[in-house]
Amino acid sequence: MAESGTERKSWPPDQDRRGLECRQCGCKHFRVVYTRATWGGRILRRRECRHCGRRMTTWESGG
Ligand SMILES: [Zn+2]
Repeated sequence: MAESGTERKSWPPDQDRRGLECRQCGCKHFRVVYTRATWGGRILRRRECRHCGRRMTTWESGG
């Protein structure tokens, strides 16, 4: 039952939605500058790194 070690997968920080991380400085603190719900039920968020100001867009499924 207890299988330790199965969670050890390679973790791509640039693709993981939960672990959003700035590619430029590695900062994980973002400020949402723009939010928009789209027709597809997804939410578009424009985020800005609080450290270096780099912006990126993320998509979230509305569940
Ligand atoms: Zn940054």
